[in-house]
Amino acid sequence: MLVKSAVPIRRFDTLVIGAGGGGLRAALQLSQAEATVAVVSKVFPTRSHTVAAQGGVNAALGNVTPDNWHWHMYDTVKGSDFLGDQDAIEYMCRAASRLVVELEHAGVPFSRLDNGKIYQRAFGGQSQNFGGDQASRTCAAADRTGHAILHSLYQQNIRAKTHFFDEYYAIDLIKDAEGAILGAVVLEIETGEPLIIEAKTTLLATGGVGRLFRNNTNARINTGDGMGMVLRAGIPIEDMEFFQFHPTGIAGKGMLITEGARGEGGYLLNKDGERFMERYAPHAKDLASRDVVSRAIATEVREGRGCGPEGDYVLLKVDHLGEEVVNKRLPGIRDMVKTFLHIDPSKQPIPVFPTAHYTMGGIPTNRFGEVVQSGADGGEEPVPGLYAVGECACVSVHGANRLGGNSLLDIVVFGRAAGNRIIEYLRDHRYHRHMSWPGVDGALARLARWDQRGEGESVAQLRNELQKAMEHYCGVFRTEDVLREGLEKVKEIERRLADARLRDHSKVFNTARIEAFELENLVDAGLATVTAALARQESRGAHSRIDYPERDDQNWMKHSLYYKEGGRLTYKPVRTQPLTVEPFPPKPRVY
Ligand SMILES: Cc1cc2nc3c(=O)[nH]c(=O)nc-3n(C[C@H](O)[C@H](O)[C@H](O)COP(=O)(O)OP(=O)(O)OC[C@H]3O[C@@H](n4cnc5c(N)ncnc54)[C@H](O)[C@@H]3O)c2cc1C
Repeated sequence: MLVKSAVPIRRFDTLVIGAGGGGLRAALQLSQAEATVAVVSKVFPTRSHTVAAQGGVNAALGNVTPDNWHWHMYDTVKGSDFLGDQDAIEYMCRAASRLVVELEHAGVPFSRLDNGKIYQRAFGGQSQNFGGDQASRTCAAADRTGHAILHSLYQQNIRAKTHFFDEYYAIDLIKDAEGAILGAVVLEIETGEPLIIEAKTTLLATGGVGRLFRNNTNARINTGDGMGMVLRAGIPIEDMEFFQFHPTGIAGKGMLITEGARGEGGYLLNKDGERFMERYAPHAKDLASRDVVSRAIATEVREGRGCGPEGDYVLLKVDHLGEEVVNKRLPGIRDMVKTFLHIDPSKQPIPVFPTAHYTMGGIPTNRFGEVVQSGADGGEEPVPGLYAVGECACVSVHGANRLGGNSLLDIVVFGRAAGNRIIEYLRDHRYHRHMSWPGVDGALARLARWDQRGEGESVAQLRNELQKAMEHYCGVFRTEDVLREGLEKVKEIERRLADARLRDHSKVFNTARIEAFELENLVDAGLATVTAALARQESRGAHSRIDYPERDDQNWMKHSLYYKEGGRLTYKPVRTQPLTVEPFPPKPRVY
């Protein structure tokens, strides 16, 4: 058993957990303001999932089609199926153009139009003039936009002297008796030794939880660790029933084919060679919102119009665009399809099927990146010292369904906003609070728990079962009986996990131990997702209930909050009042 006083301590103004675009944008803001910042990442920073983002980042620059932030705001509110908070959405869409230009100046090599301006492609759910013609709003660096952004932000942080703890795993937050967050207990993966990072402010930027599902587009590290940490600290997580399935994953494998492929003029076909999206979304067709296209593909397959020997996928055609366009605008996709399917997409269509992609829900925050919980007066108040941004957070700008290109935007906008808010907090709070040793106990106990010897099931086996269960019981289409069974199944996995054991107890680079911690977080996120999905008796955005096919604004236009203790749910209202413009009231959502 570890002796607490033997655990080394490092002190910083701010601890940022996560080195994706969200964490790095916030860290940059802070380092430039000369705060001392520690960034902890379980992988080398430029391996964070942001690096894999393909299609681009939205901003109403108007370089290709006429555009303005208010149209972008309308599309985002509609895309969210009216569950997004309109103050935060207005803030994000207004900030977009400035922050994209700032990225350009930070070194992001965006693709160019002939006139030298930033290239913008059409993406799903984008319109001109509040629902009119298709807009082209997504600023792209070919099909490797996230790669370009993450590397530029990393370089800027090195220049600003941000302190990096590469390959350190954050186990748990440290909370004191007053409920303030004082930093975290982390594990150096190389040595297996714990370290306390004490900080006046802690920012979670740990990314999404795509590994909850068997077929997914996400990196192996996207295991919802920030959500798990927050749940264990007694704070709820929001809107977890809304999980985005991207329509075009490589069939049977899950890797993403960017929406940019359809933005460049690609389209979907069923086994009869029919462009079936014309039936589901007569106006936007293949560029309807992601939830709409995913359901259409699943329906085609279910009704026997799928392609291939098993009839279990549809085809994405880009070969008619010609080799030059494919090579110039979609080089990453071409390489990936050649590697994994051994076909050339500039000559043959690509087999695709919906794949788990993006976590709309997460840690509840306001538009300043402060983590909020319900206060004594029934309103919301910030958790002292705790912030969250990026895919692990729920601001909520994406509501029930995120638009493509809005997440890279979300991470830079709210990364910057949280950085600024933390700077204000640090001005008023000059000293560290007293260390709370009981707050360290929980993390050290979790560490010790996996040192137990003896026989027990393996982590890998339980993780596989969880991923299969989530896909089977809580996928694109949902229904009461199936969700109920799913909840029992995930609870059973939670029980079995308590008796699981590691075979390898070595300390040095023991990734099995890290995977065990990750599975605990995955199970918590899974329970939150199924519990909230079972409770929500309506269809909205990505949450599609066969038994409740309509959206029900009367009863369900509200955010869910899931607490770990007792698996309890509460709800809070949607913030329908924007900052300066008129609200967009809910109306039927057609594309
Ligand atoms: C294949 C793919 C393509 C995409 N394409 C687009 C696109 O074109 N446009 C768009 O807008 N969005 C896109 N998205 C979504 C977008 O890329 C992500 O939502 C966004 O990049 C998430 O950024 P983040 O900073 O929140 O987290 P991430 O980039 O996921 O980073 C998470 C960080 O947290 C760290 N971390 C996590 N847990 C721990 C722990 N316990 N201890 C220490 N460190 C930890 C990780 O090491 C990592 O550094 C795409 C997503 C995928 C998967």
